[in-house]
Amino acid sequence: MPRGFVLRSLASRTRIREETAMHDHRRLGRELGLFDTDPLIGSGLPYWLPDGAAVRHALEEYIREAERRAGYRHVYSPVLGKRELYEISGHWSHYSDDMFPPMDLGGEQVVLRPSLCPHHALIFRSRSRSYRELPLRMAELGGMYRSELSGVLGGLTRVRAIQLNDAHIFCTLEQVADEAGAALEMIRRAYRALGISPARYRLSLPGPGGKYVAAPELWRRSTELLTEVLDRSSLPYEAAEGEAAFYGPKIDIQVADGAGRESTLSTVQVDFHQPERFGLHYIGADGAKHRPVMVHRSIIGSVERAVAHLIEHHGGAFPAWLAPVQVAVLPVSDAELPDAAALAERCAGLGLRAEVAGPEHGSLGARVRQARLVPYHAVIGAREAAAGHVALRLRDGRRPEGLPAAEALARIRALVESHATDLWDTGAGADAGADAGTGGRAGLTAG
Ligand SMILES: [Zn+2]
Repeated sequence: MPRGFVLRSLASRTRIREETAMHDHRRLGRELGLFDTDPLIGSGLPYWLPDGAAVRHALEEYIREAERRAGYRHVYSPVLGKRELYEISGHWSHYSDDMFPPMDLGGEQVVLRPSLCPHHALIFRSRSRSYRELPLRMAELGGMYRSELSGVLGGLTRVRAIQLNDAHIFCTLEQVADEAGAALEMIRRAYRALGISPARYRLSLPGPGGKYVAAPELWRRSTELLTEVLDRSSLPYEAAEGEAAFYGPKIDIQVADGAGRESTLSTVQVDFHQPERFGLHYIGADGAKHRPVMVHRSIIGSVERAVAHLIEHHGGAFPAWLAPVQVAVLPVSDAELPDAAALAERCAGLGLRAEVAGPEHGSLGARVRQARLVPYHAVIGAREAAAGHVALRLRDGRRPEGLPAAEALARIRALVESHATDLWDTGAGADAGADAGTGGRAGLTAG
């Protein structure tokens, strides 16, 4: 039986592409069936539909895999904590305007966490640490909560429940520059796989006003370290006052939407403050206690904001490895429906997301148009069915030669697994992962 639900939102997908060059992720998200909201759940609390969840899952898995390769260990920690925890971290006094009010529970107050850092500091502190364990890289894709005012909520960019790609590296002062530099390199690689590029790098410094912890010497040292990292990476950057975290300066990687509005996606921060507040230490080679430095870093920031940016940047035509549906299987006539169903099953077996759109959904041409955001179209006519072949059409209009089905799927799978942004490896030695970070659709579709 064909799984003919590919057309559910494809008619509207086509309309969208013709309507406008300026993409709004809120409209696209709804029309492509990626996410939505319900007033009964509340504003700023979107839910993810199956196609959106597929994109999010692929993104999260990419991040976890990249982190595993880079020596991070993953943890899970609760989204709640006692008010006292955030008093110690400094969030309560510097950040409580952005936090949900505490809940009274058996004489205690618990709070939805505004960040993951305090939990990770406690995990570090949970047993004695040796200098041999450093740099200790702890990562979590975890929930955190901000009490954004409802007036500024919309789509995935201003939400109250955030899934943060977060990590903390506990290390010595001498290790900070290497660790922060390695984090910048992970960010660079991730952007290449995502087909996006930074608008600029920003060194975010404190501004006037009382929201920053007062420790001039520590601010000076952190700023020096981050400047060294930026200089070593020979990245152009601008310093911006008033953009630092309350506990320290940071490198922010800014992205811009179609209207030129900037937001921060990725960040690398150096923090002397929280190790102090939580009394963190490790035993050095000299047998004495030493204070570690915390490097906070996020490759894609919040999953919500990252997906919003990806939707807008690609206009819904995601790199194949992120696409909700990767292969649209298109039988020419009812006679090829069994072959189409078998091909979709083989795709599933290979970890590829495929859907069948049979003739009941219209002419072949109409189905190709309706599936135009799907990276690969596998057309099966009588000739292909007889030979066990598929006629591949790429979203960008290219038509590779007819291939045995197994070979076509193997090549698609290899491109997906390498997080290529080009849809086809056009020859031996072709760099499937070549830079496509410059021009959105153009970058994606350049042959
Ligand atoms: Zn942190």
